[in-house]
Amino acid sequence: TATPPLFQFDNSYARDLPGFYVDWEGAKFPQPGLVLFNRPLAEELGLDPAALETAEGAAIFAGVKQPEGASPLAQVYAGHQFGGFSPQLGDGRALLLGEVIDTHGRRRDIQLKGSGPTPFSRGGDGKAVIGPVLREYIIGEAMYALDIPTTRALAAVTTGETIYREGPKPGAVLARVAASHLRVGTFQYFAARGETDKVRLLADYAISRHDPDLAEDPDRFLKFFRRVTERQAALMARWVLVGFVHGVMNTDNTTISGETIDYGPCAFIDAYDPEAVFSSIDHGGRYAFARQPQIAQWNLARLAEALLALIEPEDMDKAVDLAGTELARFPELYNAHWLEGMRAKLGLETNAEGDMEFFKALLTVMAEQGVDYTLFFRALGEAAEGAPEQARALFVDPTALDPWLAEWRKRLDGKGVAPDHVRTRMDAVNPLYIPRNHKVEEALSAAETGVYTAARQLLDVLKTPFTENPDFEAYSQPAPDSFGPYQTFC
Ligand code: AMP
Ligand code: MG
Ligand code: MG
Repeated sequence: TATPPLFQFDNSYARDLPGFYVDWEGAKFPQPGLVLFNRPLAEELGLDPAALETAEGAAIFAGVKQPEGASPLAQVYAGHQFGGFSPQLGDGRALLLGEVIDTHGRRRDIQLKGSGPTPFSRGGDGKAVIGPVLREYIIGEAMYALDIPTTRALAAVTTGETIYREGPKPGAVLARVAASHLRVGTFQYFAARGETDKVRLLADYAISRHDPDLAEDPDRFLKFFRRVTERQAALMARWVLVGFVHGVMNTDNTTISGETIDYGPCAFIDAYDPEAVFSSIDHGGRYAFARQPQIAQWNLARLAEALLALIEPEDMDKAVDLAGTELARFPELYNAHWLEGMRAKLGLETNAEGDMEFFKALLTVMAEQGVDYTLFFRALGEAAEGAPEQARALFVDPTALDPWLAEWRKRLDGKGVAPDHVRTRMDAVNPLYIPRNHKVEEALSAAETGVYTAARQLLDVLKTPFTENPDFEAYSQPAPDSFGPYQTFC
């Protein structure tokens, strides 16, 4: 009897969007080897883990072997990179293998990143190396466990090649899963070329995937823009609430789905610092920690421009007005998400006049004293139970926290909620374990020598970020001073 195909592909992008990609194949890498495989995700996708945790699976995830039903292709897109427009980017080192419908009925892309050069490589080698592949794997899975919308890693493989970056490195490919790979830059590519029919085709495709309830709506393009704006506002709040710095928020790295995508020079803050920048290429601090919401809004303005001709084809001034009104709601949407998130982090169940100022007063003291962002909120859970010593001890001068602490105490006491209940709720939203930069580096350095135990252990810790485990003590601590200032390279 015939064995069933390994993937039940249904490739809508290939089918519905001719002219938006080139059919392409992966490089013939010499020796694919499976490094990490995400069993729970494979199961969620309806795949058979046992059939893929094999040499055949490694060959498929390296892009060397094409599974039945795949239609590998490189997508074209454009993008503003650090504010400057590149009219043609595209998948220069990635292939969309195909789409599957997961066990929840959701359509998911399976993409191979690092699978070799394509017509969009622009002089690059089309490849990836083990360090960045594992960074994307680890941080993406950490974000998932933190309940933040994100692409996910299905597998990481080595290719058997040696690639020269800052020295010789093992070549690798990441198999990644996304709600889609539609980016602001995908719209920009066709809009910049004046191909309005293609922008419309793309927008209707995006609507069918992400906002199907709008499909028949005559105002669907404006409403679609509103939805993307809402998703990005929610996402930015989630990033900021957890201390995540993406590092390269170009419009080609801004999704329509609202998922975090393209973990390159990203990192989590230790000490609270609105100006934190980790990327070695972000010299001007364009993508600094606290600027991320503003940048998302800027990127959405680029999406609005690309959609104007659809929003009100006969009246450009009116289209600008309508889209501008939606765009102007971004700060309000973002603030609402952030305030709600901060209330939860602080164990507050109700809004009060002046919440914004109250929360910012805390962050100001934290920034002044370089307090560890993650540990503070966790320690504040203990303070809710009447033990503020740990929280205070995170400050160089603990008395600087006291006026704020007294104010917070009053807010909690006024509600008459049991302190242990407050702490439980706080601990459920304030992670104890985040991908600490020194731990990530430790895992990536070992992987460069072919040792993956640290990466596996770190992934294990990050699966349950809110649950204290005495074995994981070292993973909750910030980097030792000897680690020095952190820089990431993409
Ligand atoms: P990124 O900043 O990683 O999102 O990538 C921006 C653009 O550069 C995309 O079009 C990528 O496909 C392309 N790119 C990045 N690295 C490489 C590489 N090693 N070879 C070819 N293209 C690349
Ligand atoms: Mg990218
Ligand atoms: Mg990238």
